[in-house]
Amino acid sequence: MNAVSPIDEARRRAGPPLWLLLELTYRCPLHCVYCSNPVEFARVEQELETHEWLRVLREARALGAVQLGLSGGEPLQRKDLEEIVAEARRLGFYTNLITSGIGLNETRIRALKEAGLDHIQLSFQDSTRELNDFLSSTRTFELKARAAELIRRHDYPMVLNVVLHRLNIDHVGEILEMAERIGAEYVELANTQFYGWAWLNRDRLLPSREQVERAEQVTRAFRERVGERMRIYFVVPDYFERRPKACMNGLGSVFLTIAPDGLALPCHSARMLPGLALPNVREASIEWIWYDSPGFNRFRGFGWMKEPCRSCPEKEKDFGGCRCQAYLLTGDAENADPVCDLSPHHHLVTEAVARAAQPQETEKPQVTEKPVLFYRDRRNSEMLSLS
Ligand code: SF4
Ligand code: SF4
Repeated sequence: MNAVSPIDEARRRAGPPLWLLLELTYRCPLHCVYCSNPVEFARVEQELETHEWLRVLREARALGAVQLGLSGGEPLQRKDLEEIVAEARRLGFYTNLITSGIGLNETRIRALKEAGLDHIQLSFQDSTRELNDFLSSTRTFELKARAAELIRRHDYPMVLNVVLHRLNIDHVGEILEMAERIGAEYVELANTQFYGWAWLNRDRLLPSREQVERAEQVTRAFRERVGERMRIYFVVPDYFERRPKACMNGLGSVFLTIAPDGLALPCHSARMLPGLALPNVREASIEWIWYDSPGFNRFRGFGWMKEPCRSCPEKEKDFGGCRCQAYLLTGDAENADPVCDLSPHHHLVTEAVARAAQPQETEKPQVTEKPVLFYRDRRNSEMLSLS
């Protein structure tokens, strides 16, 4: 009998891509300093055309995908969003629009409702206009409030997402009060993950341990007060844990992301991983991409792992953590995620946390001061793509 190779074994074990995320465009009117889009997004040209997105939907659904996220950039920048939603609905997906709210108006929300959109997740940068606008380098706070009003009026559940970091985490009480005023049923307080633009701005965005603990306390007290009325998810930043999260539940196990140019990714940040042969939906079927492409099999199973993960009893629980974090911090995507205190590189995380305990020169950004942050915009992206 022929021996089964680790790749064949990994393929055999791969279930269907239950979660499909379509990053419809990298265009976005906002310029968030923590954006998870690739830093070199300006180099990504030629978004997929409508018929190509529809084919992706059909093929992924045929493989068993059921949950659909529509994000970007700002997905409302695509004029064919309603058409994509309608096809997704026809195919039986549960559809979730992940939006900054900019570009949502009465006409579009009506059209999206008619197309069968199930769910809208709206992001805010902060509870104050000053910081919301500073962090996104736009004047969008009121526009977001109007988007929230439209979402409520059209009977969607109110689902808010606020990315937390050093500059806004002390406002967590006010952010939750804002969510309560808006009538939110779900609030995700997601601490920044340090990839993409957040990686460039890490030293300005990483909170101190004290800030994180205070924010958790405030969140707990708020939860007790509001009870079942509002469900609040507080995602602790990786850097303050001793074990990594099971990133994507293991690459190539349930999540499939398609970037605006058709690149298929086992995680939305995976474009950064060197040597990962990522397939494109313009050239291959979703079935081949998911089951057979070298890019999707590269980190399936456990055969790729180095020590200490390879012989670790916890590897089936966390899959060695995040490949992008391992690469960014250690230069090798096969290493254990340095968040893990068994990693020989764990000091890289504890040193960053120790630096974050020190006060910074300009703790409270003023709109008048020259920003010392990299904003996610085309000019910076072009400049950084050259360097
Ligand atoms: S994080 Fe901000 S800049 Fe990035 S896609 Fe979302 S709204 Fe746009
Ligand atoms: S050594 Fe690897 S598998 Fe073990 S707990 Fe740490 S990251 Fe997870």
